[in-house]
Amino acid sequence: MPKLIPIIGMEIHVELKTKSKLFCACKNDPDRTAPNTNICEICLAHPGTLPVPNKIAIEWTVKIAEALNCRINEESKFDRKHYFYPDLPKAYQISQFDQPIGENGYINLELLPGKNQRDTAKIGITRVHLEEDTAKLSHDASGNTLVDFNRAGVPLVEIVSEPDMASATEAKVYCQELQMIFRYLGVSDADMEKGHMRCEANISLQEEGRYKKEKGAIVPVGEYKLNPKIEVKNINSFRAVEKAIEFEIQRQTEMLEDGKTWKQQTRGWDDNKGETVLQREKETSADYRYFPEPDIPPFNPLKIAGTISLPELPQARRSRFRDEYGFSFADSEILTSDAHWSAFAEEVMSELIDWLHSLSETKSDTDEIMDNKKQQLARLAGGWLTSKLMGAMADRKIDIRILKLKPENFAELIALIYSNRLNSTNAQKILGEMLDANVDMDPTHIMEEKGYGQMSDERKLSEIVDDVIKSHPEQVEQYKKGKEPLLQFLKGMVMKATEGNADPQVAEKLLREKLS
Ligand SMILES: [Zn+2]
Repeated sequence: MPKLIPIIGMEIHVELKTKSKLFCACKNDPDRTAPNTNICEICLAHPGTLPVPNKIAIEWTVKIAEALNCRINEESKFDRKHYFYPDLPKAYQISQFDQPIGENGYINLELLPGKNQRDTAKIGITRVHLEEDTAKLSHDASGNTLVDFNRAGVPLVEIVSEPDMASATEAKVYCQELQMIFRYLGVSDADMEKGHMRCEANISLQEEGRYKKEKGAIVPVGEYKLNPKIEVKNINSFRAVEKAIEFEIQRQTEMLEDGKTWKQQTRGWDDNKGETVLQREKETSADYRYFPEPDIPPFNPLKIAGTISLPELPQARRSRFRDEYGFSFADSEILTSDAHWSAFAEEVMSELIDWLHSLSETKSDTDEIMDNKKQQLARLAGGWLTSKLMGAMADRKIDIRILKLKPENFAELIALIYSNRLNSTNAQKILGEMLDANVDMDPTHIMEEKGYGQMSDERKLSEIVDDVIKSHPEQVEQYKKGKEPLLQFLKGMVMKATEGNADPQVAEKLLREKLS
C-alpha cells in the first residue's frame, strides 16, 4: 500500500458580538436563556419585511479578512442560499456566494518545535464571508422539537481554509490561532462551548505523489482517482477537533487498506463515543439555488478597509515577547493567548527593565551585558508567571480579571529573587500570602516582617558556619582528607541551621575558606 497523506481543510463559523443582529435592530444576545425574546418581524421572516444590513458587522468582517491577509473585494453582495429546515424561517439564508468580502488570504502557524512535525505551516484562506445565523432547535423529553429565534439573524462570519493542514494538531492550532485573532480584534468572544465559534473539518487521504494542489483544490495526477473527502460537524472543543480528525484519519486508512471506497459524506462527531457517525451524503452547492439577494444593494468592502486599522495580532505579539523581552517560545505562547495575561506580563517586564536600567546606571553595563541580563530576567519572570503564579492562582480559583496583585509588586518579587535576596521556597511562600490576602501587598515588606530574606551577610553567616564546623568534627576531617562531597553535607547543615535562609553561594564560599 502506498503512503497515505492526510489532507485537511477547515470551515470556521464565528458569531460577531455586535449590539444588534445582522438585518434588524433586535438585540444580539444568542446566549439569552429566555427563548424568543429578541425577535421581530424581520428575523421571523414575516412577508413584506426588508433586511437592513448592520454596518458594524460588515466592518468587522472586513477586519477579520484583513487580519487573515485576504484580498478585500471592491464589490461584494449578499445572496440567498435556499434550503428548507425548521431553523430557517425564510426557507433561505442570506449569505454570500461568488463575491465574498475577502478572498485568497493566509495565516502562518507556529508549531511547537521538536515534535514530529513541521514547525511552521502556511495555511491558505479561501474566503471570508458574512451571513446570518439560524434559529436554535432543541428537543424536549417527549420528543417535541422547540425553536428559539433569539439566534436567528445573528451575524455569522464563515472562514474557509485551503486544504493545507497535514495533521490533527495543525488543525487544532489553526482553530486556536483564529480564536485568538477574533479575541484580539474584539469582534467575538469565540467561546466554542457556547457555540460562538464552530469548527468543521474536511478530511481526505490521498496516495503520496498521485495528486497535486491546483488553485487550492486537490487534483489527481495521471490515472489516479481521488478518494472522496469526509466533512465532520458537531465539533465543540479544540480537543474534539484533534480527536475527530485523528479518528477519521484512522478510519479512512483502515477502509482504504481493506480496499473499500465511499461517497463524499457528512459525519457528526460523537464526543462520548469518541467516533464520527454518518449523517448524510453531501449535497453539491447547486442544490442551494443561490441567487443575489434583491433587497440589499452590492457594497464596496475595500472602501471600508481604508478606514480601519488593525491592532497588534497574536503572532506579532508572540514574536515581540520573544525578541523584545526574551521570553521563551512556550512562555510567550501562554502569555499571549489571553489579552489580560499579556497586559500583565508586559507591565511586569517594563517594571523589571526599568529596574535593571536603574541598577546598571551605576555600573555602566555594555549593551551586550544588558541584553544578557534582560534575557535572564525574562526567563525567570516567564517561569514564575506561567508556572508559579498561574498555578497558585488556579489552586485558589483566582481569575486574572479579578487579581488584586499588581504587576509592580509581582515584578518586585522577581527582582528580589533575581538579586539573590530571596530564595525560591520563601518567594513562593510570599506569593501565596500575597494571593491569600486578596489585597495588593509589597513583597519586600512581607519578606522583612517574616524574616524570609536570604542571609548573605558574611559576618552573620560566619558564626553559623563556625558552629557547624565545630559540631561535625568527623565530617570535617574526612573532607580535609579529600572527600569533596562532604562539603555539600556541611552546606546542607548551614542551610538547616538558618531554616533555608542562608545564601547557598555565600555559605559554600565561607566553608571553603575556613576549611582550606
Ligand atoms: Zn429581529
